[in-house]
Amino acid sequence: MRHPRLEVEICRTYKRRKGSPRPDRLGYNDTMEPELNQETLAQLESTGLQQIAQLANAQELADLQIALLGRKSTLLNLSKQMGSLSPDDRRILGQKINDLKNTFQSALEQKAQTLAHQSSQTTKVDLSLPGIRPQLGHLHPSTQVMRSLNHFFHSLGYSVYEGPEIETNEFNFEKLNLPADHPARDLADTLYIHEPEYLLRTHTSSVETRAMTHEKLPIRIVVPGKVYRNETTNTTNNSMFYQYEGLVVDKNVSMADLKGTLIEFAKFLYGEGVETRFRCKYYPQVEPGAGMDIKCTFCHGEGCQVCKYRGWIEVLGAGMVHPNALRACGIDPQEWSGFAFGMGFDRLVMLKYGINDVRKLYNGELVVEEKI
Ligand SMILES: [Zn+2]
Repeated sequence: MRHPRLEVEICRTYKRRKGSPRPDRLGYNDTMEPELNQETLAQLESTGLQQIAQLANAQELADLQIALLGRKSTLLNLSKQMGSLSPDDRRILGQKINDLKNTFQSALEQKAQTLAHQSSQTTKVDLSLPGIRPQLGHLHPSTQVMRSLNHFFHSLGYSVYEGPEIETNEFNFEKLNLPADHPARDLADTLYIHEPEYLLRTHTSSVETRAMTHEKLPIRIVVPGKVYRNETTNTTNNSMFYQYEGLVVDKNVSMADLKGTLIEFAKFLYGEGVETRFRCKYYPQVEPGAGMDIKCTFCHGEGCQVCKYRGWIEVLGAGMVHPNALRACGIDPQEWSGFAFGMGFDRLVMLKYGINDVRKLYNGELVVEEKI
């Protein structure tokens, strides 16, 4: 962008100091002292406009704008001499300087438009190239598993039932055969909103007691939802997690109905060939209580890390609804009976997708999402 001929012409007008640096792109440098007069301004205008005309791209334009109008520009240096001029010269030359600034500014703007237009003309777009496919979102793994479970239980005639997450002591404990002095209350380290009356529900069984109290019999419901415990968070525990429970209250409901339902459920979840077994377990709200295990799907009973070398994995707890719980909700245990089952839902999702840390389900980590 240098114009040797123009530089020489301008330099000739002024005395160049011995050993001073080469002139800048407009033919001046800091150590030269061009005199402010009409001729200098005319030369500056002609040089500047020529350089603007020859600009080839946006970067050159930005550089030249600084050189012409910036804080170290020749034009600004010249205007510093205004103080030493006579009033008449000051008025005339001051006006000229302003005009020159405007001339440069509008010429630069016009050039910028021309360059932008040229660049849009030269950029070729190949319309036949494939586009960039945007990443599509999908439902959270937990939501997907929950919906498929809901769908399965719908097919058996169950409804999905929901209840409040802030619960009363009555529905969360009392009506579930868990009075204040019951040792089982120690099992759940409860988060209280207002002790002892209001708390964050420690299980979705509280929704079942609401259904038994308020709904017409018979009842056949599943209850998915968040529950809260005062747990230290680590790879397998979280202070908030999901449970999935089910409840049936009807006439002549037996343990055989419970086993049949849960075996069908296991087949739905783990495939037709799944092996199940039931073991006696204690839960205060049921009598008798049972735990259902499946033969480890990873080692087929041989023993591995996932099943902790037992060959079996416990997937849920269940049992016949305790007569005390039925009575507490106003149901006559002589006439009605029922069964209930519940599972740690997060563990189920983790097993299904091979996720090894429960926290990954809740921190929005996309790695988990990509496993699907
Ligand atoms: Zn195993």
